[in-house]
Amino acid sequence: MHERDVIIVGGGLAGLTAALDLTQKGIGVLVIEKTPFPRHKVCGEYVSREVIPYLKQLGVDIETGVAIDHLLLSTQKGNSFSFQLPLGGVGISRYALDDLLYQRCLQEGVTICFDTVTDILYEKDRFEVSTLNGDTYSSSIALAAYGKRSNLDKSLKRPFFNQKSPWLAVKAHYKHADFPVNQVALHNFEGGYCGLSKTETAAVNMCYLASYRNFSKYRNIDDFNQNVLGRNPLLNKFLTEAEPLWKSPLSIAQVSFVKKEAVSGHILFCGDTAGLIHPLCGNGMAIAIHSAKIASEAIVQFFKSTSYSRKSLEQDYQKHWKQEFGQRMRLGRTLQHVLLRDNLSRHLITGLSRFPSVTRKVIQKTHGKPISV
Ligand SMILES: Cc1cc2nc3c(=O)[nH]c(=O)nc-3n(C[C@H](O)[C@H](O)[C@H](O)COP(=O)(O)OP(=O)(O)OC[C@H]3O[C@@H](n4cnc5c(N)ncnc54)[C@H](O)[C@@H]3O)c2cc1C
Repeated sequence: MHERDVIIVGGGLAGLTAALDLTQKGIGVLVIEKTPFPRHKVCGEYVSREVIPYLKQLGVDIETGVAIDHLLLSTQKGNSFSFQLPLGGVGISRYALDDLLYQRCLQEGVTICFDTVTDILYEKDRFEVSTLNGDTYSSSIALAAYGKRSNLDKSLKRPFFNQKSPWLAVKAHYKHADFPVNQVALHNFEGGYCGLSKTETAAVNMCYLASYRNFSKYRNIDDFNQNVLGRNPLLNKFLTEAEPLWKSPLSIAQVSFVKKEAVSGHILFCGDTAGLIHPLCGNGMAIAIHSAKIASEAIVQFFKSTSYSRKSLEQDYQKHWKQEFGQRMRLGRTLQHVLLRDNLSRHLITGLSRFPSVTRKVIQKTHGKPISV
């Protein structure tokens, strides 16, 4: 049995960020991640700038990506308007971003083991974490950062696992010479929406969320792109002009936005394991990174102060999580509801184009302030 202060299950954005933060504060960490780096991942690849100060403090510079300061919104019929983003973001592929964090973890001496966690048990004030390769690890704290959906949700009997989600997501990189470097576009189509933005390689990332109901009427992704996305004239123009850089797109199923708990069975849940904000907000990665900071602060206090109990740690983490992200999650749900209804989204987009100060406020409410360090 291998012993550690903290076991982090999942080395994505939340897991690797927490690993860096805790290691820099002298806590013994083990990360267990199932997939080697670097690897592509279904994601819009637009990171809100709010995370930059915190990542810099951890020694991670993401400004190698492209600076994005404009959002273009379009309706299903291609009526569009563009405006300046209050804070803006960075376009960087998950291939590069996750690897950047991974390399930084290696520099800091974080132990990362590549294996799939199959169960997390809590007994006598300790966690026992088992893996597919047959290893068992023990720790005082278990931080679950394994993303929006995993085999572990089933083992841990998380209630949402058995609820079917109506969403799937598709992503691919394209070459397109004229796509504006500083722009993220959000185009509506029937039953979904599609984000386009450049990454550090100059490739344009196309990532969309679509309902199964619509998708299942078509034979494959190309067919769907042509017949559904292509009905939005702006997406049609992009798909006609752009050259796919991959043999085939990546896709994921069962993308769920249901409410989850930030603490359950004494396990702290971090990033998407605690809740996924609707991707149209472009804030999921920032929330994952920020929640890692909140978790790390509470964990450090747990190890450094004898009067800070497990109960206080769990209560504080839960409270802080809700305070910081609860409102963003709710607004994301409302916006997604409006954007997916063509009539409502037309009114919304026309309204926003007339009142730039309201647009600014709505965007600010889906994002956080630059994380203070
Ligand atoms: C379609 C779509 C578009 C999006 N676009 C954007 C965007 O443009 N901007 C934005 O900010 N956010 C976006 N998001 C959200 C963003 O991708 C997530 O919020 C972010 O990846 C969450 O990070 P995480 O660390 O919680 O999870 P992840 O990054 O998913 O990391 C989880 C890790 O856990 C590992 N893992 C899983 N199970 C196990 C196991 N049993 N054992 C060991 N390891 C395991 C996985 O391999 C993975 O590396 C989008 C999401 C979707 C679905």
